[in-house]
Amino acid sequence: MANEGAGGQPVYILREGSTQSKGRDAQQFNIMAAVAVAEAVKSTLGPKGMDKMLVDPTGNVTVTNDGATILREVQIDHPAAQMIVEVARAQDDEVGDGTTTAVVLAGELLRKASDLMDRQIHPTVIATGYRMAADKAKELLQTIAVPVEKTDRELLEKIAFTAMTGKGAEAEGAMLSKLAVDAVLAVEDAGKVDTDNVKVEKMVGPGAMASQLIKGIALGKTRVVENMPKAVSKAKILLLNASMEIKKTQVDASIKIKSPQQMKTFLEQEEAMLLKNVEAISKSGANVLFCQKGMDDLVASHLGKKGIFAIKSVSESDMKKLSRATGARIVTKIEEIDPKDLGYAGIVEERKVSGDESLTFVEECKNPKAVTLFVRAGTATVMDELERALHDAIRVVSVVVEDGKVVPAGGAPEIELSLRLKQYASTIGGREQLAIESFANAMEIIPRTLAENAGLDPIDMLVSLRSKHEAKNGKNFGLNVYEGKPIDMLAAGIIEPLRVKTQAVGSAAEAAVMILRIDDVIASGGPSEQTISEAKQQAKRQLAAGRMGGGMPPGMGGFM
Ligand code: ADP
Ligand code: MG
Repeated sequence: MANEGAGGQPVYILREGSTQSKGRDAQQFNIMAAVAVAEAVKSTLGPKGMDKMLVDPTGNVTVTNDGATILREVQIDHPAAQMIVEVARAQDDEVGDGTTTAVVLAGELLRKASDLMDRQIHPTVIATGYRMAADKAKELLQTIAVPVEKTDRELLEKIAFTAMTGKGAEAEGAMLSKLAVDAVLAVEDAGKVDTDNVKVEKMVGPGAMASQLIKGIALGKTRVVENMPKAVSKAKILLLNASMEIKKTQVDASIKIKSPQQMKTFLEQEEAMLLKNVEAISKSGANVLFCQKGMDDLVASHLGKKGIFAIKSVSESDMKKLSRATGARIVTKIEEIDPKDLGYAGIVEERKVSGDESLTFVEECKNPKAVTLFVRAGTATVMDELERALHDAIRVVSVVVEDGKVVPAGGAPEIELSLRLKQYASTIGGREQLAIESFANAMEIIPRTLAENAGLDPIDMLVSLRSKHEAKNGKNFGLNVYEGKPIDMLAAGIIEPLRVKTQAVGSAAEAAVMILRIDDVIASGGPSEQTISEAKQQAKRQLAAGRMGGGMPPGMGGFM
């Protein structure tokens, strides 16, 4: 950065190696980068969207249609591009679906903004117009939305199905939709759904049709030792967060051992202690033990002798889910075990599911508030994509159970927004009007892309969609990508949560505005090679002089 200083000498205020781009240049670069991100995921949008094959540096392959996953897996460096990736992340966090939509919208808003700038409209004016348009769009979406009852199972299944469309689950879509709805309704609690209570366990197996919902928990672990029972019915379950191991540290801590005999006595005492613990557990009436900490085989075999089924080193998150599924309270001190803390399951069983691999199933829980979706598929790649599809489905169903509002799919709300925002723009006037009109036109990118990805003529499709929406009772018409014509999406039961759209429009506009307002990009250069080698030399000298201590920064030693 150089400015004219006194006497015409340039004044440098940035460190050597820094780069700067300003004004229209900076904006142009940022917009190009953001648009590039949108372009990268655009072809995956909609039921006919294509998949991407991602290969990470270690050679792992992911085949996916999921925008959030693609943007997470590829390494994106450009700061403006990262802001678009952020849009996808926010969308994924808030709704779990609509990530591609949000990113494609953001890209189109910026492309249209760039056109406006070419027409000498100031970015600040565009930003203001976009903000007004986004606020209006959210308001309009409320009037486009239709209410649903959370008891309307059939409708909830349709929402799940729409979210999974195009994600490689076509054949099994109906069955998986049902599983997703069952899972959400099982964990729903006073109108709120915490999807963390739906555990997803997966294993390659016969095929997706073998996937099932377990009214309880499936754990990818097996019992500690063979002499434990393989199955316990009418299980009384103890959840213990305490170690069942001999604490080795005690030996080298404070006890002085003078003879081998003394050592033996000491170990015997330890063992007696552990056996006392086994006794306490057995006395509580528990016949199943899930232990968050470790467990010695000796202890395990004693538990086995008492007919107790036990699993060790259970993760904290699984412990919580087990607690919600079985009603057990997690106990932290063995001395404090109370029979009231025990949970219940109709059966706890270790079962072979494929080849040599076994899982432990905790099933037939009474009113479980945590459940497991056990996903099966022929291959690992398919299974992973199914899991992502189910994740989207579970999230959208939860969102609808919470909000009770849906919109038609297939670009219907976008076309409607586009038309109504243009009407709104005409009431505003001034230069902002142009920005609002651009915002309105940008909305059409969604139906346009759905058409393109289905190999349809986008212009024809947009024209017929617009004319449907301009006619009476046409606001629910979206693009039937299979037949290439507009249909009433609501009547056809192809619907999405309202929140998918409000969030997508909101966060796309926010990111676009943020990027537009940047007119100066300064990237600091790292320290130069010379500085680094000088610092190293200095550190070496100081080390040699024995002056580096107490975490002093290099170069300070001389002052002490
Ligand atoms: P996103 O990551 O945005 O959810 P998707 O690839 O899931 O991307 O595509 C979502 C888009 O596909 C939405 O606009 C949705 O309305 C549309 N869509 C979903 N199912 C259908 C369908 N059966 N017919 C037409 N459009 C559909
Ligand atoms: Mg989707």
